[in-house]
Amino acid sequence: MYQADVVIVGAGVVGCAIARELSRYDLQVLVVDKRDDVGGDASKSNSSIAITGFDCPPGSLEARLCHETRARFDHVTKELDVPFRVCGALMPAITPEQMERLPAIYDEAMANGVTDVVYLTPEEILAKEPEINPAVLGGLYIPREAVIDPFLYVVALAENAAANGVKFLLRCEVTGMTVENGAITAVETTQGTIRTKYVINAAGLYGDEIARMAGEEIDYTVKPRKGQFFILDRSTPCKTEAVIYPIPTPTSRGKLLLQTVHGNMLLGPTAEDGEDKTDHSTTAEELAGIERDCRQLVPNIRVSDTITQYSGLRPNRTPAGFHIAFGEKTAGYFEVGGVRSTGVSCSLGIARYVADQFRAAGVELREKEDFSPIRRGIPRFAGADNEKREQLLAEDPLYGRIICRCETVTEAEIVQAIHRDPPATTVDAVKRRLRAGMGRCQGGFCGPKVMEILSRELGIPMEQVEKNLPGSYLTTGPVRGGKEDA
Ligand SMILES: Cc1cc2nc3c(=O)[nH]c(=O)nc-3n(C[C@H](O)[C@H](O)[C@H](O)COP(=O)(O)OP(=O)(O)OC[C@H]3O[C@@H](n4cnc5c(N)ncnc54)[C@H](O)[C@@H]3O)c2cc1C
Repeated sequence: MYQADVVIVGAGVVGCAIARELSRYDLQVLVVDKRDDVGGDASKSNSSIAITGFDCPPGSLEARLCHETRARFDHVTKELDVPFRVCGALMPAITPEQMERLPAIYDEAMANGVTDVVYLTPEEILAKEPEINPAVLGGLYIPREAVIDPFLYVVALAENAAANGVKFLLRCEVTGMTVENGAITAVETTQGTIRTKYVINAAGLYGDEIARMAGEEIDYTVKPRKGQFFILDRSTPCKTEAVIYPIPTPTSRGKLLLQTVHGNMLLGPTAEDGEDKTDHSTTAEELAGIERDCRQLVPNIRVSDTITQYSGLRPNRTPAGFHIAFGEKTAGYFEVGGVRSTGVSCSLGIARYVADQFRAAGVELREKEDFSPIRRGIPRFAGADNEKREQLLAEDPLYGRIICRCETVTEAEIVQAIHRDPPATTVDAVKRRLRAGMGRCQGGFCGPKVMEILSRELGIPMEQVEKNLPGSYLTTGPVRGGKEDA
């Protein structure tokens, strides 16, 4: 039986940002997630943009929290040691109809307080980004749009929360809740009962199911809106520095191009409404649409340099819009819903807003004296100069064993990732923290070596090493009877 003051359901960007915020206070906080790792579902398959909020619905809570988060990102990403690049964004208009849309988008940016957005002439656009379609008629420049490492950001939020006392219970599915006299008293999970007074629902796509478990009568639906992407090899010749946005459509921001913090070009996403909350497939038809639309903006983009495709599922709530409040029926139940397309960009604002709502409801939030906002990442061999590399090697000879050749990831880094809190216990958890397997060969060379290290460090046989989700084993047993036959 576990005990906590607050249980957060979901260790995506929303749950982990809230966990870090609440770790400032004298509270016992427990984060529960059914997955093998922190990082969430939508949170690990998005466009990686820290949006200024220039195009959010003016006056909305989303616009406000986006604005607040962006104002803190430069500082907080330094505290958390997370890659963050302020690259700016261009929104080029290629047709006269698109030109006509620009004033409304500009006015929206001003209404949202993003007052540094400016109009650019075709010459100014091409001077900034020579690869943009030369037929461009004009456009907008949004200078503070930025890109972040979305995986490391969530891991860093979680590690910092853990260092400040938050407990993470992974591979643990919430299956029900106990409500007594109209108030939550316990959360039922696949790892047993957690007694608690407060539950924060940060379950994204599954938020409706958690709300029902809490006894709330819900008047909304949460369905997946899929977004597919291409990732190109770092060596592709046609790249842009800024994020290149299309003129948005009524349902989506449209298909964009950007260079990730690690130098790969990312193309997408689509916006496909569906029913299946587990369908992460990609399709030739939609991918062809991404290529077609992106070529309108950047004609020389070379999709043949693709190293992988993936898709993410936005938690699409109907009616749309952020819903961040205590439940109407069950005392102690708090919902963070409707965070569909800007969860990364609003994360810090959402977390502080949740704390404010708790305070306003009379929950005592006493600041801890020993809270530390600082988290240091694993010292990286890739990108270090020779002097730093010598130092790392002297400290740990395993820095001399390169496991992932594409991304220059050493055994020392992998071992550290496995023993951090929360730990990396699967091949994909190692990949998201260190990029082993994210390069050109997509794990073809390093995959088995990462498995061997996981097997050794976790003390489990190779057959029990998983790719990602519980049960996603990669091997079934020795082909020729094991080592003696080799
Ligand atoms: C294609 C795409 C592009 C996007 N681009 C951007 C962008 O550029 N910038 C931006 O800011 N945002 C972007 N977003 C939106 C952003 O990714 C989401 O708003 C955000 O990730 C939502 O985070 P979350 O923590 O609420 O949900 P999730 O990351 O989905 O996490 C929810 C967690 O809850 C867990 N869970 C669910 N049910 C249970 C249960 N019963 N028991 C235990 N655990 C449970 C899940 O396992 C999961 O880990 C994009 C999203 C997509 C899909």
